[in-house]
Amino acid sequence: MLHPWVFAGEVAELPEAAPGSLVRIVDARGRQTGIGYLNPRSKIVLRYLARGGVESAEGLWSRRIREAIARRGTYAGDAARRLVNAEGDGAPGVIVDDYAGWLSVQLTTAGSECARDEIVAALAQTRGPLGIYERSDVPERALEGLEQRTGVLWGAEPPQTVEIREGAARLLVDVREGQKTGLFLDQRENRLAVSGYARDARVLNTFAYSGGFSVHAALGGAREVTSVDISAEACSLARRNLELNGFPLDAQRTYAQNAFDFLRRSADERERYDLVIIDPPAFARGRSSLEGALRGYREINLRGLKLLEPGGVLVTCSCSRPVTREIFREVVQRAAFDAKCSVQIVEERGHAGDHPVLLQAPETDYLVCLILRVIA
Ligand code: SAH
Repeated sequence: MLHPWVFAGEVAELPEAAPGSLVRIVDARGRQTGIGYLNPRSKIVLRYLARGGVESAEGLWSRRIREAIARRGTYAGDAARRLVNAEGDGAPGVIVDDYAGWLSVQLTTAGSECARDEIVAALAQTRGPLGIYERSDVPERALEGLEQRTGVLWGAEPPQTVEIREGAARLLVDVREGQKTGLFLDQRENRLAVSGYARDARVLNTFAYSGGFSVHAALGGAREVTSVDISAEACSLARRNLELNGFPLDAQRTYAQNAFDFLRRSADERERYDLVIIDPPAFARGRSSLEGALRGYREINLRGLKLLEPGGVLVTCSCSRPVTREIFREVVQRAAFDAKCSVQIVEERGHAGDHPVLLQAPETDYLVCLILRVIA
Protein backbone atom coordinates (compact mmCIF):
# COMPACT_ATOMS: atom_id res chain seq x y z
CA MET A 1 0.00 0.00 0.00
CA LEU A 2 3.10 2.20 -0.21
CA HIS A 3 3.22 3.30 3.36
CA PRO A 4 6.07 5.79 3.87
CA TRP A 5 7.50 3.90 6.87
CA VAL A 6 9.53 0.69 6.87
CA PHE A 7 9.96 -1.16 10.17
CA ALA A 8 13.12 -2.95 11.31
CA GLY A 9 11.65 -6.44 10.77
CA GLU A 10 10.86 -5.68 7.12
CA VAL A 11 14.41 -5.00 6.00
CA ALA A 12 16.94 -7.68 4.95
CA GLU A 13 19.97 -5.44 5.17
CA LEU A 14 20.76 -1.86 6.15
CA PRO A 15 23.80 -0.09 4.72
CA GLU A 16 26.50 1.35 7.00
CA ALA A 17 25.44 4.97 7.09
CA ALA A 18 24.97 7.64 9.75
CA PRO A 19 21.41 7.98 11.16
CA GLY A 20 19.43 10.34 8.99
CA SER A 21 21.38 9.68 5.77
CA LEU A 22 19.50 9.41 2.50
CA VAL A 23 19.77 5.98 0.94
CA ARG A 24 18.46 4.11 -2.08
CA ILE A 25 15.82 1.56 -1.12
CA VAL A 26 15.74 -1.63 -3.22
CA ASP A 27 13.38 -4.61 -3.17
CA ALA A 28 14.31 -8.31 -2.97
CA ARG A 29 14.91 -8.38 -6.73
CA GLY A 30 17.29 -5.44 -6.57
CA ARG A 31 14.86 -2.93 -8.14
CA GLN A 32 14.86 0.54 -6.65
CA THR A 33 11.61 1.35 -4.85
CA GLY A 34 12.63 4.87 -3.89
CA ILE A 35 14.88 7.08 -1.82
CA GLY A 36 14.45 7.54 1.89
CA TYR A 37 16.34 8.15 5.07
CA LEU A 38 17.46 5.59 7.54
CA ASN A 39 17.75 5.45 11.29
CA PRO A 40 18.87 2.13 12.75
CA ARG A 41 18.20 3.57 16.25
CA SER A 42 14.46 3.94 15.56
CA LYS A 43 11.83 1.19 15.20
CA ILE A 44 11.02 2.86 11.90
CA VAL A 45 14.32 2.25 10.15
CA LEU A 46 13.42 3.84 6.83
CA ARG A 47 11.10 6.65 5.75
CA TYR A 48 10.46 7.30 2.08
CA LEU A 49 11.12 10.73 0.65
CA ALA A 50 10.63 9.75 -3.00
CA ARG A 51 9.18 6.76 -4.82
CA GLY A 52 10.42 4.74 -7.80
CA GLY A 53 13.62 5.10 -9.76
CA VAL A 54 14.55 8.68 -8.81
CA GLU A 55 18.10 9.23 -9.95
CA SER A 56 19.57 11.38 -7.25
CA ALA A 57 18.92 12.41 -3.67
CA GLU A 58 20.41 15.83 -4.41
CA GLY A 59 18.00 18.64 -3.56
CA LEU A 60 15.21 16.22 -2.64
CA TRP A 61 14.48 17.87 0.72
CA SER A 62 14.32 21.38 -0.73
CA ARG A 63 12.00 20.11 -3.45
CA ARG A 64 9.65 18.60 -0.88
CA ILE A 65 9.58 21.88 1.08
CA ARG A 66 9.03 24.05 -2.01
CA GLU A 67 6.25 21.80 -3.31
CA ALA A 68 4.46 21.79 0.06
CA ILE A 69 4.55 25.58 0.22
CA ALA A 70 3.40 25.93 -3.40
CA ARG A 71 0.38 23.70 -2.65
CA ARG A 72 -0.78 26.15 0.05
CA GLY A 73 -1.31 28.90 -2.56
CA THR A 74 -1.54 32.48 -1.41
CA TYR A 75 -3.08 33.69 1.83
CA ALA A 76 -3.14 36.93 3.79
CA GLY A 77 0.21 38.01 5.23
CA ASP A 78 -1.22 38.23 8.74
CA ALA A 79 -2.78 34.75 8.65
CA ALA A 80 -1.43 31.52 10.16
CA ARG A 81 -1.03 28.35 8.10
CA ARG A 82 0.62 24.97 8.29
CA LEU A 83 3.12 25.02 5.42
CA VAL A 84 4.60 21.54 5.73
CA ASN A 85 2.65 18.65 7.29
CA ALA A 86 5.20 15.84 7.55
CA GLU A 87 4.03 12.58 5.87
CA GLY A 88 0.95 14.36 4.51
CA ASP A 89 3.29 16.49 2.40
CA GLY A 90 5.80 13.76 1.57
CA ALA A 91 8.25 15.26 4.08
CA PRO A 92 8.30 12.85 7.03
CA GLY A 93 9.68 14.43 10.19
CA VAL A 94 9.05 18.07 9.20
CA ILE A 95 6.34 20.38 10.52
CA VAL A 96 6.37 24.05 9.56
CA ASP A 97 3.78 26.59 10.67
CA ASP A 98 3.64 30.19 9.46
CA TYR A 99 2.46 32.78 12.00
CA ALA A 100 2.13 36.04 10.07
CA GLY A 101 5.61 35.65 8.61
CA TRP A 102 7.27 33.96 11.60
CA LEU A 103 7.97 30.32 10.84
CA SER A 104 7.89 27.75 13.62
CA VAL A 105 9.66 24.49 12.73
CA GLN A 106 9.62 21.04 14.29
CA LEU A 107 12.11 18.41 13.17
CA THR A 108 11.05 15.12 14.73
CA THR A 109 13.31 12.50 13.09
CA ALA A 110 17.01 11.86 12.46
CA GLY A 111 16.44 12.35 8.72
CA SER A 112 14.92 15.80 9.06
CA GLU A 113 17.51 16.69 11.71
CA CYS A 114 20.33 15.90 9.25
CA ALA A 115 18.63 18.01 6.59
CA ARG A 116 18.14 21.02 8.88
CA ASP A 117 20.34 23.39 6.82
CA GLU A 118 18.76 22.43 3.51
CA ILE A 119 15.23 22.73 4.96
CA VAL A 120 15.94 26.13 6.51
CA ALA A 121 17.50 27.44 3.28
CA ALA A 122 14.48 26.27 1.26
CA LEU A 123 12.07 27.93 3.72
CA ALA A 124 14.03 31.19 3.73
CA GLN A 125 14.14 31.33 -0.08
CA THR A 126 10.55 30.30 -0.72
CA ARG A 127 8.63 32.23 1.93
CA GLY A 128 10.90 35.18 2.67
CA PRO A 129 9.96 34.99 6.37
CA LEU A 130 10.76 37.46 9.14
CA GLY A 131 12.45 34.69 11.08
CA ILE A 132 12.56 30.92 11.45
CA TYR A 133 12.36 29.50 14.96
CA GLU A 134 12.92 25.87 15.92
CA ARG A 135 10.45 24.17 18.26
CA SER A 136 11.88 20.65 18.26
CA ASP A 137 10.89 20.26 21.91
CA VAL A 138 8.79 17.15 21.35
CA PRO A 139 9.04 13.78 23.11
CA GLU A 140 9.01 11.82 19.80
CA ARG A 141 12.59 12.90 19.24
CA ALA A 142 13.75 10.53 21.99
CA LEU A 143 12.48 7.58 19.90
CA GLU A 144 14.96 8.68 17.24
CA GLY A 145 17.85 9.11 19.67
CA LEU A 146 17.66 12.91 19.49
CA GLU A 147 17.80 15.63 22.15
CA GLN A 148 15.22 18.42 22.24
CA ARG A 149 16.19 21.70 20.56
CA THR A 150 14.76 25.21 20.37
CA GLY A 151 16.10 28.52 19.12
CA VAL A 152 16.48 30.87 16.17
CA LEU A 153 17.39 29.05 12.94
CA TRP A 154 17.35 32.03 10.61
CA GLY A 155 16.58 35.76 10.65
CA ALA A 156 15.22 37.60 13.67
CA GLU A 157 13.95 36.18 16.97
CA PRO A 158 10.16 36.24 17.18
CA PRO A 159 8.65 38.73 19.65
CA GLN A 160 7.07 37.46 22.88
CA THR A 161 3.73 37.21 21.12
CA VAL A 162 2.92 37.41 17.42
CA GLU A 163 -0.54 38.62 16.41
CA ILE A 164 -2.23 36.61 13.70
CA ARG A 165 -5.63 36.86 12.05
CA GLU A 166 -7.93 33.85 11.89
CA GLY A 167 -11.12 34.76 10.04
CA ALA A 168 -12.59 37.66 12.01
CA ALA A 169 -10.44 36.89 15.07
CA ARG A 170 -7.12 38.33 16.11
CA LEU A 171 -5.07 35.90 18.16
CA LEU A 172 -1.81 36.25 20.06
CA VAL A 173 0.63 33.41 19.54
CA ASP A 174 3.68 32.62 21.64
CA VAL A 175 5.93 31.08 18.98
CA ARG A 176 8.86 30.55 21.33
CA GLU A 177 7.15 28.97 24.34
CA GLY A 178 3.52 28.28 23.51
CA GLN A 179 2.19 24.73 23.24
CA LYS A 180 2.93 22.79 20.03
CA THR A 181 4.40 25.29 17.54
CA GLY A 182 2.43 28.15 19.17
CA LEU A 183 -1.17 27.44 18.23
CA PHE A 184 -3.27 24.34 17.50
CA LEU A 185 -3.62 25.14 13.81
CA ASP A 186 -5.25 21.79 13.07
CA GLN A 187 -8.39 23.21 14.77
CA ARG A 188 -8.46 26.45 12.73
CA GLU A 189 -11.45 25.60 10.53
CA ASN A 190 -13.33 24.06 13.46
CA ARG A 191 -12.87 27.27 15.45
CA LEU A 192 -14.29 29.24 12.49
CA ALA A 193 -17.23 26.82 12.28
CA VAL A 194 -18.06 27.18 15.97
CA SER A 195 -18.77 30.89 15.70
CA GLY A 196 -21.88 29.91 13.70
CA TYR A 197 -23.40 28.20 16.77
CA ALA A 198 -22.73 30.95 19.29
CA ARG A 199 -25.39 33.60 18.73
CA ASP A 200 -26.76 34.71 22.12
CA ALA A 201 -25.28 31.56 23.66
CA ARG A 202 -23.88 30.96 27.09
CA VAL A 203 -20.65 29.22 26.15
CA LEU A 204 -18.32 26.89 28.06
CA ASN A 205 -14.95 26.21 26.40
CA THR A 206 -12.98 23.49 28.19
CA PHE A 207 -9.31 22.70 27.50
CA ALA A 208 -9.35 26.19 26.04
CA TYR A 209 -5.59 26.83 25.64
CA SER A 210 -5.27 30.44 24.42
CA GLY A 211 -9.02 30.77 23.99
CA GLY A 212 -9.27 30.37 20.22
CA PHE A 213 -12.73 28.77 20.39
CA SER A 214 -13.77 31.32 23.04
CA VAL A 215 -12.84 34.25 20.80
CA HIS A 216 -14.67 32.81 17.80
CA ALA A 217 -17.73 32.15 19.96
CA ALA A 218 -17.53 35.73 21.24
CA LEU A 219 -17.31 37.09 17.70
CA GLY A 220 -20.24 34.86 16.74
CA GLY A 221 -22.43 36.75 19.21
CA ALA A 222 -22.08 34.78 22.45
CA ARG A 223 -23.75 36.33 25.47
CA GLU A 224 -21.14 35.02 27.87
CA VAL A 225 -18.01 32.89 27.53
CA THR A 226 -16.34 30.73 30.19
CA SER A 227 -12.89 29.29 29.40
CA VAL A 228 -11.17 26.56 31.42
CA ASP A 229 -7.59 25.33 31.06
CA ILE A 230 -5.22 23.74 33.55
CA SER A 231 -2.37 26.02 32.45
CA ALA A 232 -2.27 29.47 34.03
CA GLU A 233 -0.19 30.81 31.08
CA ALA A 234 -2.81 29.54 28.64
CA CYS A 235 -5.56 31.22 30.68
CA SER A 236 -3.78 34.54 30.74
CA LEU A 237 -3.33 34.38 26.95
CA ALA A 238 -7.03 33.50 26.59
CA ARG A 239 -7.97 36.58 28.63
CA ARG A 240 -5.72 38.79 26.52
CA ASN A 241 -7.16 37.32 23.32
CA LEU A 242 -10.75 38.00 24.39
CA GLU A 243 -9.78 41.53 25.32
CA LEU A 244 -7.95 42.06 22.02
CA ASN A 245 -11.16 41.14 20.22
CA GLY A 246 -13.20 43.63 22.20
CA PHE A 247 -15.22 41.13 24.23
CA PRO A 248 -16.57 42.85 27.37
CA LEU A 249 -14.81 41.89 30.59
CA ASP A 250 -18.03 41.29 32.48
CA ALA A 251 -19.13 38.69 29.89
CA GLN A 252 -16.07 36.47 30.25
CA ARG A 253 -14.74 34.16 32.90
CA THR A 254 -11.46 32.24 32.77
CA TYR A 255 -10.51 29.47 35.19
CA ALA A 256 -7.09 27.86 35.53
CA GLN A 257 -8.50 24.52 36.67
CA ASN A 258 -8.67 20.85 35.86
CA ALA A 259 -11.50 20.59 33.32
CA PHE A 260 -12.64 17.22 34.71
CA ASP A 261 -13.24 18.79 38.13
CA PHE A 262 -14.79 21.91 36.62
CA LEU A 263 -17.25 19.86 34.56
CA ARG A 264 -18.17 17.68 37.53
CA ARG A 265 -18.73 20.66 39.80
CA SER A 266 -20.77 22.55 37.20
CA ALA A 267 -22.97 19.51 36.66
CA ASP A 268 -23.47 19.15 40.44
CA GLU A 269 -24.39 22.83 40.67
CA ARG A 270 -26.85 22.39 37.80
CA GLU A 271 -25.19 25.02 35.64
CA ARG A 272 -26.56 25.24 32.09
CA TYR A 273 -24.94 26.30 28.81
CA ASP A 274 -26.12 26.60 25.21
CA LEU A 275 -22.75 25.65 23.71
CA VAL A 276 -20.09 23.44 25.28
CA ILE A 277 -16.69 22.86 23.65
CA ILE A 278 -14.47 19.96 24.72
CA ASP A 279 -11.02 19.81 23.10
CA PRO A 280 -8.71 17.83 25.39
CA PRO A 281 -5.11 16.82 24.72
CA ALA A 282 -4.52 13.29 23.41
CA PHE A 283 -5.60 10.90 26.17
CA ALA A 284 -4.13 7.90 24.31
CA ARG A 285 -0.76 7.86 22.61
CA GLY A 286 -0.69 4.14 21.90
CA ARG A 287 -2.99 1.15 22.04
CA SER A 288 -1.98 0.31 25.60
CA SER A 289 -3.52 3.53 26.90
CA LEU A 290 -6.68 3.25 24.79
CA GLU A 291 -8.98 1.84 27.45
CA GLY A 292 -8.21 4.55 30.02
CA ALA A 293 -8.53 7.17 27.32
CA LEU A 294 -12.00 5.97 26.35
CA ARG A 295 -13.10 6.18 29.98
CA GLY A 296 -11.84 9.78 30.04
CA TYR A 297 -13.69 10.71 26.84
CA ARG A 298 -16.87 9.06 28.07
CA GLU A 299 -16.74 10.95 31.35
CA ILE A 300 -16.13 14.43 29.96
CA ASN A 301 -18.67 13.99 27.20
CA LEU A 302 -21.29 12.78 29.68
CA ARG A 303 -20.66 15.84 31.84
CA GLY A 304 -20.63 18.16 28.83
CA LEU A 305 -23.99 16.79 27.63
CA LYS A 306 -25.51 17.14 31.10
CA LEU A 307 -24.63 20.83 31.13
CA LEU A 308 -26.54 21.59 27.93
CA GLU A 309 -29.87 23.33 27.71
CA PRO A 310 -32.41 21.51 25.50
CA GLY A 311 -31.36 22.23 21.91
CA GLY A 312 -27.84 22.99 23.08
CA VAL A 313 -24.74 22.20 21.03
CA LEU A 314 -21.73 20.11 22.03
CA VAL A 315 -18.50 20.49 20.06
CA THR A 316 -16.36 17.54 21.06
CA CYS A 317 -12.92 16.57 19.81
CA SER A 318 -10.33 13.82 20.04
CA CYS A 319 -6.75 14.08 18.84
CA SER A 320 -5.73 10.62 20.10
CA ARG A 321 -4.24 8.65 17.22
CA PRO A 322 -5.62 5.25 18.27
CA VAL A 323 -9.13 6.73 18.59
CA THR A 324 -10.62 6.44 15.11
CA ARG A 325 -13.76 8.27 13.99
CA GLU A 326 -15.81 5.12 14.56
CA ILE A 327 -14.43 4.59 18.06
CA PHE A 328 -14.99 8.23 18.99
CA ARG A 329 -18.57 8.23 17.72
CA GLU A 330 -19.21 5.12 19.76
CA VAL A 331 -17.77 6.58 22.95
CA VAL A 332 -19.82 9.76 22.58
CA GLN A 333 -22.88 7.62 21.85
CA ARG A 334 -22.29 5.84 25.17
CA ALA A 335 -21.99 9.19 26.91
CA ALA A 336 -25.33 10.22 25.37
CA PHE A 337 -26.83 6.93 26.64
CA ASP A 338 -25.55 7.69 30.17
CA ALA A 339 -26.88 11.25 29.90
CA LYS A 340 -30.25 9.85 28.72
CA CYS A 341 -30.56 12.24 25.81
CA SER A 342 -31.05 12.03 22.05
CA VAL A 343 -28.28 13.67 20.14
CA GLN A 344 -28.01 14.51 16.46
CA ILE A 345 -24.76 14.79 14.54
CA VAL A 346 -24.81 18.20 12.92
CA GLU A 347 -21.28 18.15 11.53
CA GLU A 348 -18.44 15.64 11.49
CA ARG A 349 -15.17 17.45 10.99
CA GLY A 350 -11.41 16.86 11.02
CA HIS A 351 -8.18 18.73 10.43
CA ALA A 352 -7.96 22.03 8.62
CA GLY A 353 -7.24 21.71 4.88
CA ASP A 354 -3.61 22.75 5.32
CA HIS A 355 -3.07 19.56 7.39
CA PRO A 356 -3.39 17.00 4.58
CA VAL A 357 -3.39 13.34 5.57
CA LEU A 358 -1.54 10.79 3.47
CA LEU A 359 -4.05 8.22 2.23
CA GLN A 360 -1.52 5.43 2.74
CA ALA A 361 -0.74 6.48 6.33
CA PRO A 362 -4.19 6.54 7.96
CA GLU A 363 -2.62 6.84 11.43
CA THR A 364 -1.67 10.41 10.54
CA ASP A 365 -5.42 11.23 10.46
CA TYR A 366 -5.84 11.90 14.18
CA LEU A 367 -8.28 14.77 14.70
CA VAL A 368 -12.02 14.16 15.03
CA CYS A 369 -14.43 17.01 15.78
CA LEU A 370 -18.12 16.26 16.18
CA ILE A 371 -20.69 19.03 16.37
CA LEU A 372 -23.75 17.59 18.09
CA ARG A 373 -27.12 18.91 19.17
CA VAL A 374 -29.26 17.58 21.99
CA ILE A 375 -32.73 17.19 20.53
CA ALA A 376 -34.60 15.50 23.37
N1 SAH B 1 -8.90 24.22 21.97
C1 SAH B 1 -7.56 24.74 21.96
C2 SAH B 1 -6.50 23.66 22.01
C3 SAH B 1 -6.57 22.78 23.23
S1 SAH B 1 -5.16 21.81 23.49
C4 SAH B 1 -7.37 25.62 20.74
O1 SAH B 1 -8.25 25.64 19.86
O2 SAH B 1 -6.35 26.31 20.66
C5 SAH B 1 -5.48 21.08 25.03
C6 SAH B 1 -5.38 22.00 26.22
O3 SAH B 1 -5.78 21.27 27.36
C7 SAH B 1 -4.00 22.54 26.55
O4 SAH B 1 -4.04 23.94 26.55
C8 SAH B 1 -3.69 22.02 27.96
O5 SAH B 1 -3.06 23.00 28.79
C9 SAH B 1 -5.06 21.72 28.49
N2 SAH B 1 -5.19 20.68 29.51
C10 SAH B 1 -4.54 19.50 29.61
N3 SAH B 1 -5.04 18.77 30.64
C11 SAH B 1 -6.05 19.50 31.19
C12 SAH B 1 -6.96 19.28 32.26
N4 SAH B 1 -6.96 18.15 32.96
N5 SAH B 1 -7.84 20.26 32.52
C13 SAH B 1 -7.88 21.40 31.82
N6 SAH B 1 -7.04 21.65 30.79
C14 SAH B 1 -6.14 20.72 30.47
